[in-house]
Amino acid sequence: MPYIDKDNNIIFELEDMEWAWTNAIDLIDVDDKSLKMCYLCKFVMKKDDYYQDSKNETGWVIDFINSSKLKKNYNSYSNIIAIHYNCFKADIKTKANMSKVIKRIKTLIWKNITEEDLKND
Ligand SMILES: [Zn+2]
Repeated sequence: MPYIDKDNNIIFELEDMEWAWTNAIDLIDVDDKSLKMCYLCKFVMKKDDYYQDSKNETGWVIDFINSSKLKKNYNSYSNIIAIHYNCFKADIKTKANMSKVIKRIKTLIWKNITEEDLKND
């Protein structure tokens, strides 16, 4: 589970990556073990593409769903979700607590758009 170290840094562990991935948005037509959708930009994320450094800026990172109650909730598996590093960096979240937004997004069915789909348009 995420925790805060003595220097006040939030530390994620390997199992947090799995939970953040599990909590991310499913696409109906792809394997959710390898592909999910970023709830902010609605584009696909590849599980293998975990953000390490500036060489893979299309990668994903772990973010908090509700950062307004971080002190209470930081150590919860249900409060983390995978999002693109670039979306995280762009700071485009509309509020500190995105749990209602994410719940609404999860009520909809999302499909991956392939290169083939784009050709047929
Ligand atoms: Zn994104």
